[in-house]
This record gives sequence, structure tokens and C-alpha cells, in this order.
Amino acid sequence: MSKKILAANFKTNHTRASTHEYVEALDSALQKMGYGSEVYIFPPATALDRFATQSDIRIGAQNAYPTVKGSFTGETGLEQLGEFGIETLLIGHSERRHILGETQEFIAQKYAWFKEQNFTIVYCIGEPLEVREAGDEAVRRYIVEQLEGIDTVYDRLILAYEPVWAIGTGKTATPDLIEATHTMIKNLSERPLLYGGSVKPANIAEILAVPGCDGALIGTASWEVESMLDMLSKVKGEK
Ligand code: PEP
Repeated sequence: MSKKILAANFKTNHTRASTHEYVEALDSALQKMGYGSEVYIFPPATALDRFATQSDIRIGAQNAYPTVKGSFTGETGLEQLGEFGIETLLIGHSERRHILGETQEFIAQKYAWFKEQNFTIVYCIGEPLEVREAGDEAVRRYIVEQLEGIDTVYDRLILAYEPVWAIGTGKTATPDLIEATHTMIKNLSERPLLYGGSVKPANIAEILAVPGCDGALIGTASWEVESMLDMLSKVKGEK
């Protein structure tokens, strides 16, 4: 299998101590495997740190505020991320859009600001169930709106298509649906495109074999390091 990008979103799981144990275990296993593809880990903000890894594990933040520092209670700015050398950020995740109420306008502002800082941005898009049920054209329009204000040719952009109805639900989109949606999205941006939504050891090989699928963004099934390693072994990247 050609090089795939795997990204683990811990969401509100893991502590600082358990993140260290996880990254150490992952690092030594990746070295033994000779794993050569990109692996991103997004721990919670309290677990961000510099990790002494030998393999190519990149640590990213799940969220940050578009500021160097300032008065934004509860938020994390560039200065705080810089302390740990963090240069990768998840933006537009459906939980931030739908639970935390981030608007497209704010998301686009955040994107533009961190792009200016040369961050690698994993940018999430994906439709809720009612939009999927309204048909392909409704999905296309919804996704076009989620790309409003986003520089889709930015060379450090990685897109992630994550249908909301498949996130954390155990329901995975079928390979045909992933292929059709990825083809539509690839007409909007040529940047690498991950799939996310209940990816797990049992389905990762099939999903990554879908034409136009450049990797996976994984939530639940990434939280146990054994499960993450199981998935990595199935897509063993080329050196
Ligand atoms: C996610 O939160 O990005 C995600 C894909 O979650 P899960 O794998 O649990 O569906």
C-alpha cells in the first residue's frame, strides 16, 4: 500500500502521563516496524509536550485560538504551543462546529491565522445525516460552504472528510460512498484527503484501499495504543 497518513484524535481522553506512555510505546513499535508514513497524534491540550521520539510521530493540537497570547480565558495561543514546538493544528472538527458552536466565519479566521504561522492544518469537513439523506448535491453544497474562506491550495493543508453521522457511532461510510465523496472533494482541492468516521482495525485496510483516500483520521479506535498499532501494521508505510 502506498504512503498513507494516519492521525489519532484523542479528543477528551488520556492524561499527560498516559499520553507519554502511549507515544513511547508507539515510537518504539514504529522504529521496529520501520514505519515510513506520516503519523499525527492530537492529545488533549493538558498533555501537549516535547516528546523524545526517534520515529516520525508529529504531535498536533486539537484546538487553539488565533492569537500569540492575550486575554482569551480558557484558550491556547501560539506562545503556549511554541513552548512544545507544536506546528500542527486540527481545525473544523465536527465536535467543535456542532457542540462548541464554532461558525464557519471563525473557523476561516482561525485557519487563515495559523496558515500565516506556517502550521500544518488538518481541516475537517463532513455532512450531518439529514444532509446526506437529502442527496449528493446537498452534500456537495454543504461541503463547499465548509470550505468558504479556506485556502484550499495551501501546501500544508491536509483535508479530512468525516461524515458527522459516522463519527463515534460505529457506522462507517461504505467504500463506494467514500470514493464518490472523495472524488467530489478532490474536484474542490487537490490536497491529501483523509477519511474519518469509525475507522478501526477491522475496516482500515478496506477504507484505505479506496481510490482517492490518502489516509485516516481516527478517534475512538486510536485511544488504545495496541489498536493504533494494529491499524498501523495493516497499512505499514513505505520507507
Ligand atoms: C474523529 O473524531 O475525528 C473520529 C473520526 O472519531 P471516531 O473514529 O471515533 O469516529
